[in-house]
Amino acid sequence: MTKALLIDVTKCTGCRGCQVACKQWNELPGEKTSVSTTWTNPKQLSAYTWTHVDFREVPNGAGHPSWNFVHKRCFHCLEPACVSACPVGALQKTDEVPVTYDVSRCIGCRYCMVACPFDIPKFTWDSAQPVIAKCTFCADRLADGQEPACAKTCTTNAIQFGERDQLIVEAQARIQATPARYVNYIYGKDEAGGTSVMYLSGVPFDRLGFKSDISHEPYPARTWEALSKIPWEVLGVAAVMSGTWWIIQRREKYAAINTSKKAKR
Ligand code: SF4
Ligand code: SF4
Ligand code: SF4
Repeated sequence: MTKALLIDVTKCTGCRGCQVACKQWNELPGEKTSVSTTWTNPKQLSAYTWTHVDFREVPNGAGHPSWNFVHKRCFHCLEPACVSACPVGALQKTDEVPVTYDVSRCIGCRYCMVACPFDIPKFTWDSAQPVIAKCTFCADRLADGQEPACAKTCTTNAIQFGERDQLIVEAQARIQATPARYVNYIYGKDEAGGTSVMYLSGVPFDRLGFKSDISHEPYPARTWEALSKIPWEVLGVAAVMSGTWWIIQRREKYAAINTSKKAKR
């Protein structure tokens, strides 16, 4: 059974409670922003903003545009391209838990940024030792039997946590019960072979900034095709970093074994 989130854009009031809860739980710093007419603040995802609420005004031709607040973040693909691209296993996927991330293993090669079809992983460019950062699906909370912080805090139940199969049944039931409220599509059910973050909307998804050209086939098979387009200098640096990481890990492993042997003498 796979845990998932169903995000119903028609229920979101744009309160940004999920943004704040994510920052608070993951101890992410605030970012310098400015007021703008987009009603979106911060304007996009970053290494320090793992979820943000996008604002999209969609004209309907009748003089009453629809206002949409869209909670955006990592989709947690069932077969993630980022995981297959990562040379050191910093990104991991199990059947039950969405894509987890171990920052201590990341060597900053940015393969995952190239591989992700949704452009989700971000880089801590301002750090002396830059690494990748993205939504973790609050894997630490899941391990403790809790739901993700963003879902827990949502007062309108626009973000619903549960088993993926059951959430798909729930989404289909909502569309069937109120067809005038929703477009007849569940974004994420099939995209990239299926994702653990799925959406319902009252307007076509491309009007909300969702990519409409995502394949319904899993992306890992395409990963190395994408990576082959990276300039060889970048790959060379990544290979050196990967090798360095392996040597350091090996040294640490043998140092630990030697310490343990000495302690036993
Ligand atoms: S959306 Fe991108 S970063 Fe997230 S799991 Fe899928 S491939 Fe990985
Ligand atoms: S930057 Fe490289 S090492 Fe870090 S998570 Fe992405 S693919 Fe893995
Ligand atoms: S699942 Fe956790 S890390 Fe991901 S957006 Fe929600 S609160 Fe942030």
